[in-house]
Amino acid sequence: MTANLLEFDLEGLALFCERLGEKRFRATQLFRWIHQKGASSFGEMTDLAKSLREKLLVSAHVKGLDVISQHVSSDGTIKWLFDVAGGDAVEAVFIPEDNRGTLCISSQAGCAVGCRFCSTGHQGFSRNLRTGEIVAQLWFAEHFLRRHLGRDERIISNVVMMGMGEPLQNYSELLPALKVMLDDHAYGLSRRRLTVSTSGVVPMMDRLAQDCPVALAVSLHAPNDELRSNLVPLNKKYPIEELLAACNRYLQHAPRDFITFEYCMLDKVNDQSEHALQLVDLVRKHSTGGVWCKFNLIPFNPFPESGLLRSEHNQVLAFAKILSDAGIVTTIRKTRGDDIDAACGQLAGDVNDRTRVDERMAQRRTVMLRPVRSFDENHEEI
Ligand code: SAH
Ligand code: SF4
Repeated sequence: MTANLLEFDLEGLALFCERLGEKRFRATQLFRWIHQKGASSFGEMTDLAKSLREKLLVSAHVKGLDVISQHVSSDGTIKWLFDVAGGDAVEAVFIPEDNRGTLCISSQAGCAVGCRFCSTGHQGFSRNLRTGEIVAQLWFAEHFLRRHLGRDERIISNVVMMGMGEPLQNYSELLPALKVMLDDHAYGLSRRRLTVSTSGVVPMMDRLAQDCPVALAVSLHAPNDELRSNLVPLNKKYPIEELLAACNRYLQHAPRDFITFEYCMLDKVNDQSEHALQLVDLVRKHSTGGVWCKFNLIPFNPFPESGLLRSEHNQVLAFAKILSDAGIVTTIRKTRGDDIDAACGQLAGDVNDRTRVDERMAQRRTVMLRPVRSFDENHEEI
């Protein structure tokens, strides 16, 4: 079997070139062709020596993921469903804003953490994505958007690992993928524009701090262990005190940064003023001086099996006010892509529903991808 070059970070690609009897610097050229120009055939890599191209033809390939469907929301958000074989599918979402373009990508098919308010968690775990499958989501989205917008400059400025899966439970595949995203010869994202979101896998937060201290978002969702263990089962293993201590250790490796705490607002479950006051105590207790954390309140996106409801808007505002009056920087997340189910926790690869993926694949074979004409087109599907 030949190697898929999307699996490699620059160091991995340099080793691969060495194994072919080539100089390491060839890897940089190759890396640029693949990630900066979106090339997938060696024939178009015109400044590579013909002898190298011939070696690559027999030993390597560049293969992204098949797109099962594409939806474009009225607010410009685009959601792609990718086939990752074996009946599994994962999603990525592009969110255009005035001064940036954010891509939200998946790290696993399904998720083993099983949070009560998350539809991915309700589906269960299918498998870890490989490095190449994580990178392929960005590779596809960036070059697709450039072609369809007719632009030659970078479109995706921020990446958040907030799609399906718990990235820190797939650490060995995640790390090279993050390195590709940060590499100046590839996507050149700055460390602060690449966010890993975790439900709190404490040992891996420490590893990430050492290996690649990108921006960290921690899904907190509750101010005490009893409630958090009920919502995020992983809390039984890594309770709040340990989690917040790990956050502080993380910041020692990421000076002048802050942790973003995500807090999904669930009606009458975790949205009362007593919960906000408990959060204030927690933040003060763990403060090392200055702003060390921010809160992002996420209106819950309901789905039937959860049995949970979205908090009233006034309740969210009141909750935010308690936090901000206590000096804690707090934002309320705008929901984007509502009309295409692209919002947090609604990403549904249907890992257990193989027939549905198969059906979509069958449809895909008969209908060609229509070009995206503009961002405000509704419900574009393949
Ligand atoms: N597994 C990681 C990253 C993926 S989930 C994590 O849990 O952090 C990304 C974010 O979406 C998390 O903050 C998660 O709590 C939130 N989320 C999940 N389901 C949601 C839902 N139904 N409504 C709103 N936010 C949700
Ligand atoms: Fe997994 Fe994150 Fe969903 Fe929890 S919220 S089940 S950790 S994807």
